[in-house]
Amino acid sequence: MKYDDNNIFAKILRGEIPCKKIYEDDYVLSFHDINPQKKIHALVIPKGKYIDLDDFNAKASDKEIVGLMKGISIVAKKLGISLDIGKGYRTLSNLSEHGGQEVPHLHFHLFGGEKVGRMVE
Ligand code: 5GP
Repeated sequence: MKYDDNNIFAKILRGEIPCKKIYEDDYVLSFHDINPQKKIHALVIPKGKYIDLDDFNAKASDKEIVGLMKGISIVAKKLGISLDIGKGYRTLSNLSEHGGQEVPHLHFHLFGGEKVGRMVE
């Protein structure tokens, strides 16, 4: 599958669509989900063009991989849900059809601000 340059997160990265930004650095952009499923629902996406986690792990540089992983923790801290200052959170990434992925640009969801419940509904 080829990366779709017109997916919604690609448009957000290009600044064509607004987002409620939480954090940005050389490797990641983070913003609030438009349809929050929990009190806090943030998204962390790599700046590179990767469809999903498998695509990312196959093609991204070590710097990009470290940048994304660390970016998740930086965002959690900014949101006050990291373990040092908050009460924890859930992070997950959906892959393709069976994973229920809607936007074909790799993203990690961060849920928190309350008990987030069962892992799989
Ligand atoms: P997925 O199902 O692909 O793992 O999750 C996609 C997420 O992107 C959904 O939680 C959905 O609410 C969110 N989303 C879709 N379009 C937009 C948008 O234009 N802006 C923001 N901030 N989130 C979006």
